[in-house]
Amino acid sequence: MIIVNDKKICEVCKKNNAVILCDGCGIPLCKDCRSFDLWSYGCGHIDPKVFCSKCFDDIDINPWGGKRD
Ligand SMILES: [Zn+2]
Ligand SMILES: [Zn+2]
Repeated sequence: MIIVNDKKICEVCKKNNAVILCDGCGIPLCKDCRSFDLWSYGCGHIDPKVFCSKCFDDIDINPWGGKRD
């Protein structure tokens, strides 16, 4: 995940300051609009991911949490 340090406005609500970038499409997200997911690998390594709601539901971007139609 990529933390936002400089002042950016959230791309989803266009209202709050962004705190993080979406791991899928790279848009800035505030703390209300981000969705966390944990990707775990076989070796026990867990990689925290953060997505906008669109990428979170996208099976191609988030195979662990995305929904199949
Ligand atoms: Zn927002
Ligand atoms: Zn996204």
